[in-house]
Order: sequence, then structure tokens, then C-alpha cells
Amino acid sequence: MKKSSIDRRSFISRLSMSAGGLMLAPQLHLLNQQPRKLGIALVGLGTYSTNQLAPALKQTQYCKLAGVVTGSKVKGEQWAKDYGFPVKNIYGYDTMSQLADNRDIDIIYVVTPNALHAEHAIAAAKAGKHVICEKPMATSVAECDAIISACRAAKVKLSIGYRLHFDPYHKELMRLAKEKDFGVLSKINGDRGFVMASKSWRADKKLAGGGPLLDLGIYLIHGASMAANGAAPLAVTAKYHPVTKPEIFSDVEEGISWNMEFPGGVVADLQTSYQHSKDYFKATGAKGWIEFKEHAFTYKGLVVETSRGPLNYAPAYQQALQMDDFAQCVQLNKQTRVPGELGKRDIAIIKSIYKAAETGDKVVVKV
Ligand code: NAD
Repeated sequence: MKKSSIDRRSFISRLSMSAGGLMLAPQLHLLNQQPRKLGIALVGLGTYSTNQLAPALKQTQYCKLAGVVTGSKVKGEQWAKDYGFPVKNIYGYDTMSQLADNRDIDIIYVVTPNALHAEHAIAAAKAGKHVICEKPMATSVAECDAIISACRAAKVKLSIGYRLHFDPYHKELMRLAKEKDFGVLSKINGDRGFVMASKSWRADKKLAGGGPLLDLGIYLIHGASMAANGAAPLAVTAKYHPVTKPEIFSDVEEGISWNMEFPGGVVADLQTSYQHSKDYFKATGAKGWIEFKEHAFTYKGLVVETSRGPLNYAPAYQQALQMDDFAQCVQLNKQTRVPGELGKRDIAIIKSIYKAAETGDKVVVKV
């Protein structure tokens, strides 16, 4: 049994006894006494962990940074100092199995290059810890299956770092789709890219698994599916962009354009690349539209308009909300809204898009 559930049970049972055997619903958020914050260990202390996740963990209500997995002991010690966790909670990638003995850590968050997600997520599950895995979930459907199986076998929860499910503008997109507020969906457009000036792991197929489609295009795929009320595309066509920087893009695509046909005949027209800077998305229905004009899929600064006028929501700390939600799923034994199956679905779609680009054919998507 997981330590968090043992803690919760004994806490509830003590409380029931002190209340003279009165049965209380196991909803800790209704009780005055807060359960302890769950401990998260970040695996991989690169840009996203450093600039987004670790600062977000200073704002979270239900979880906190309690440890790290890193290739650099010196870096780990600095993080321990900065974030106030003991040096015993610093692990290497090759010592992750020892996390099984660490009661400070409940959740392991995998933030390494894409091709390492499966190895690290499976190691986390085998250590008996709940898992958050960054997008893209993995580089193949088989790896996604292996992660899901490992989490099931270890009876731990699994979620994907799909932070936009916690962003108010994207929640509005999902609401519009669910309620058909803008009528029957008729058109989807999107474009996401940044200029890659020098080679990094993101352009190395061994570590990235693919190019901008896996890294950035995944947001457009996910956004289009949100606009289609959660549906997956039925079929895809795709075309690679001509390579302009062969010294960088020797084994992954530099850019790709693709179409996705959704149930009802709606076609999403999308593109992504490491050649141009853009972050745009629009979904149009028979009675209105929503347009993410700037920073469509970014952490903040989203500029969103609808056919009824601009949307102005208070800024949301996407990552803090995402991690707090997962901590509550663990504490209250709830299903996450961003499960491994959703990550696997997107990898299956991506694989179909690559196949379409390779063959020039329309490819039926099997999810
Ligand atoms: P990064 O290059 O800045 O960091 C990667 C980390 O992995 C580094 O600490 C590096 O030392 C470590 N690492 C371990 N083994 C490695 C190896 N063999 N080769 C290279 N690095 C290795 O990358 P990042 O931007 O932090 O991205 C990490 C993951 O997070 C990616 O999967 C990426 O898609 C995802 N990400 C998600 C978001 C989001 O908004 N959800 C944003 C950025 C990145």
C-alpha cells in the first residue's frame, strides 16, 4: 500500500475515534486540519524544472519540492539549499530505485529529454511513487504502454504534464466545445514554432524522438482535440517543410504542415517548425469563433478573442494548479483529468502524421 494512503487512513481512523466513532466522509479538504503537503521529486533539472516547475512548487498548496534526481551532485546540493530539502533526497538517474525507501517523496515528476521519459517514469513507478511525466509522454506508443503498465502494476497514479487543462482560456475552449456554444465546429487553424539557432537534444532523434511535431505540434494536436470536444482525428495528411539548416536538422524534421480530419468532417489545418516564431490557434463554429492570437499555448500572456469580444481572465499559474490537482488526486484517490492514456493518444496521432509525411498518403488514425 502507498505511504500516502496509509497516512490518510490512519489520520481518518484517529479522527473517527476521537469523534466517538462518528463516521466521517474521507474528504480531507472538508476538515479543518490540512494533510501534509505531498513531496515531489523533479527528475532532470533543466530549463523547465528550473524556470517553471520549481518556482511553481513554491506556490503550491498541496505539494512541495522535496527532492531531485540529477546527474550533478553539486547542482543537487545547491537545489537542496535553495528549496530547503535534505541532501539525502538528492538522487542520480542510476539510483532512482533507492527512492522506494524515501518517505519524504510521494510523487516523481519526469522532466528529462523525451526519449528518456519511459525509462525514468518506469523507474519511478517501480520505486512505488506516483508519476507525472512531461509531454510528449514518450517517443513511441509501445513506450507509453510500458509506462501505463508499470504504473498499474505498482498501483500508482500517472498523469501527463498537460498544464493547459488548468488554464482558464483553454478551459473556456473546452467549455465552448462541450456546450456547442459556437455551434457546430467548422474550422481549426494553428501554427506554433520557434527558431532553433544551434543544435540541441531537441534536434537529435535519439533523445527527442522527432522534431517540432513532438515538441510543439503536440500542443496544436491537443488544442484541436479540445476544440473537437475531446475527439481524436479520424485521418491525417502531412508534408515536411524543405530543410533550410541541414547542419542542425540532419535526423529530425525542421518543419511540418498537416491536416487532421475530425468526426463531422471538420479539418484542422496546422503547422509547426523550428524555422519561425509563432504561437497561434483558432477554432471556428457555425455561430462564432475563439482565437488565441498570441502565446496560445504558453505559460502566460495569452491574448484571446472571441466573436463576442476579448477574454480577460486573471492570470493562472498553470503548473502550480496542475501539480496541486495531481496531489489532490493522490490524496483523495481521484482520477486525474490528464491521464497516461491521453498522452498515449497524442503519440499515436503523431506517429500517424509522421507516416503520412513519409508516404504522402492519407493515414487513418488508430488510437
Ligand atoms: P533541458 O534540456 O533544459 O533539460 C533537460 C534535463 O535533462 C537537463 O537537466 C539534463 O541534464 C537532463 N538530462 C538527463 N539525461 C540527459 C541526456 N542523456 N541528455 C541530455 N539531457 C539529459 O530541457 P527542458 O526544456 O527542460 O525539457 C525537458 C522536458 O520537459 C522535455 O520532455 C520537454 O518536452 C518538456 N517540457 C515541457 C514544457 C511544458 O510546457 N509542459 C516546457 C518545456 C519543456
